[in-house]
Formats: sequence, C-alpha cells, structure tokens
Amino acid sequence: MEETSHFFTRPILLFVFHFILVSSISESDYGLERGGKEGAICAERLWTSGGTEQNKALVEQLQHYGVIRSTKVAEVMEKIDRGSFVPDGNPPYVDSPMQIGYNATISAPHMHATCLELLKENLQPGMHVLDVGSGTGYLTACFALMVGPQGRVVGIEHIPELGASSIENIQKTPAASLLKEGSLSIHVGDGRLGWPESSPYDAIHVGAAATEIPQPLIDQLKPGGRMVIPVGNIFQDLEVVDKNLDGSISIHSETSVRYVPLTSRDAQLRGY
Ligand code: SAH
Repeated sequence: MEETSHFFTRPILLFVFHFILVSSISESDYGLERGGKEGAICAERLWTSGGTEQNKALVEQLQHYGVIRSTKVAEVMEKIDRGSFVPDGNPPYVDSPMQIGYNATISAPHMHATCLELLKENLQPGMHVLDVGSGTGYLTACFALMVGPQGRVVGIEHIPELGASSIENIQKTPAASLLKEGSLSIHVGDGRLGWPESSPYDAIHVGAAATEIPQPLIDQLKPGGRMVIPVGNIFQDLEVVDKNLDGSISIHSETSVRYVPLTSRDAQLRGY
C-alpha cells in the first residue's frame, strides 16, 4: 500500500526512536494498531515541554507525516489534549496505543487522526454521530467539538467503569459544556446494537474490531452517511462504509489495523 511504503522510506533514526518508545507494548497485545502511517514522534521535543505544548507537538508531527491533512482535524486534536485521556503513569504524547484496563486500549494518535480525517465531511456543525466502543472518550469529545451544540454525539461503551471515567476525562476538556448541555452523552450498553434513539447518523465510528459489520449500525446510518469500522480477527482492515443517497452501500478498505475485538462484555473481561 502506498501509505505503508511511504512509512518505510522515512529516516531510519526516527524509526529506531519510535521502536524504543513503543517497545514496552508487546506486539501480542491487542492494543497495537497498525495504520499505514505510524508517525514517529520526536521524543526529545515531547519530553521537554509542558502538557499543552506536548500535545501541540504531537499534532504537528502527525501533520508533518501527512496523517493529519486538514486544519479542521489539527484544530480539534490540539483542543482535545490526549493527556486528559491516558491513564496516569503512561506517556500520553507517544504515537502508540496505551492500556486503559479491562483488556482495552486508547487508540494510537495516528489512528485517531486517520479516523477523524476519514469522517470529517460527516462531522459538520449540527450533524449526528455515534461512537461505538467509546473507551476513554477521546474521539467522542473530538466529534462533539466538531458538530457543536446543535449536533448530537452518542458514545456507547459496554464497560461501565470505562464509561464513567470517560465522562471524567471529557469534563477536563473544552467539550465539557456539550456534555453538560446534553448534545454529547455516553451510554453503557452493547454498541453492536447501535443507539436507535438518536439515529440516523451522519457518521458512525467503531473503535473495536467486528468479525462482520453489525446490521443495526448499517441500518442506523443516514443516506449520505459514513461509517469507519475495523473488520477482521487477527488480520483486520479499517473499512469505510458509505451509504449512498439511494440507500445502497459502498465499502472500501483503507488500511490494515489491529484493534481490540468488538465483543461481549464477558468475553472481553475473560480476555477474549
Ligand atoms: N476509541 C476508543 C477505543 C477504545 S478500545 C479510545 O481511543 O479510547 C475499544 C473499546 O470498545 C473498549 O473500551 C471496549 O470496552 C469497547 N467495546 C468492545 N466491544 C464492545 C461492545 N460490544 N459494545 C460497546 N463497547 C465495546
């Protein structure tokens, strides 16, 4: 794939840097997501500045490597500081997924950026968005800022403790007022069923890998709407599902990825 080969042409030094940074995360962890553009982040700069500055540097690196291509995505990722979502004791500004407990991870920044870029046309002010497997709430908060107070963003997470901590995380960000006013809400439930109450959705993001695309999510997508969903088991593709205006569905694969499974709560707590 073009994106992957581009990654391998980058200076070897940056690759080594990146390798050192992520080497604490085992490849056997479900958390290691492999997008085509794993941004190698300049560690020195990230480690010597304060939180907001470090988040800005992370965004700049993702822009530099072409993962973030629009000012819209850069702006929202600057406003929603990753440091408010990564559990204490983990380096928040490294381009890697991090464990968040309950056999789940916060996605790597380059995957958050990739999904925001893919969905950005469907994240206009006033639009409706569903975030399935909302985890830490990072993307849920980004979506909410993008669609604004006239929009509607629903996050669904099946681990109640993660749902509760995601609310605390979002309260530390500029999306807090949207949570308070109700245009952003987090619900505990099985995301494979979607959330019909606020459907149809202009954008659906799924943050965990499905063995096949759940029909309720397709049904809850608006004509003209777009869903981004990782599909597969060990080998997974990030699939982009477009519902055309006549209701037909077009699907293309964007890149290879590795996400935690979209599964039942029991299976996840048992370790799948
Ligand atoms: N975008 C999130 C991803 C979290 S990892 C973030 O970056 O923080 C995926 C999440 O999906 C986990 O929190 C997991 O608990 C949740 N999940 C898995 N299967 C689910 C299901 N059937 N319904 C709801 N949430 C689910």
